[in-house]
Amino acid sequence: MNELAQQIIKVRQRLQQAAQRAGHKPVQLLAVTKQVSVERIEQAYTLGLTKFGESKVQEALPKLARLPQAEWHYIGRLQTNKVKDVVGRFALIHSLDRWKLAEALEGEAAKKEQQVGVLVQVNIGREEQKGGLDPAEVSDFIHELSSLPHLRLEGLMAIPPQTADPEEARPYFRAMFQLFSSLRSGGFKLKLLSMGMSQDFEVAVEEGANLVRIGSLLFGERA
Ligand SMILES: *Cc1c(COP(=O)(O)O)cnc(C)c1O
Repeated sequence: MNELAQQIIKVRQRLQQAAQRAGHKPVQLLAVTKQVSVERIEQAYTLGLTKFGESKVQEALPKLARLPQAEWHYIGRLQTNKVKDVVGRFALIHSLDRWKLAEALEGEAAKKEQQVGVLVQVNIGREEQKGGLDPAEVSDFIHELSSLPHLRLEGLMAIPPQTADPEEARPYFRAMFQLFSSLRSGGFKLKLLSMGMSQDFEVAVEEGANLVRIGSLLFGERA
């Protein structure tokens, strides 16, 4: 068995065990394929991975063209001048983080007579350099989103501050789950909580993530 096949099995096992510890439903695995060649992505698809995440539009488009049968997610910072390349191609955009982008997506989706699935990105560590809404602004923001009929809000996404020990990220994941739960109790129909990467996905799942985004653990370290 080749290395990629082995890594997929390992990651799936660890994911399943973490989900069991958390006592909640299965977790979706998004394979992050930035800097991964299209040949290896095709191999991963053959091995059973079906959802892939990309963070740069220019890098992603040729890959999508080669593997249109896969489900592609956009996980990077998105500029408003790129929405035309994204709407209609990606099943889900994880990085909706400002009103101007919401309006741009709405305009493009309306033009193409399509719906666009989005997650609202939350800057849970309130880090200056990071995208995402301040946690205190999320409720008002998603309330406003209901005025944009071509956006389909599916949930929240977060990238907590980088820490050496994944345990240090636990309070951020927990805060995200609390925010997610309180918005749901408030009547917002949120399904997905996208958090956890190679270093910390088990902690994220234990705290309630139901979609994890894993790159280097599957495909090896990036250059
Ligand atoms: C690169 C990236 C990931 C995956 O990171 P790994 O540490 O390689 O698992 C997940 N989410 C986002 C937003 C990324 O940019």
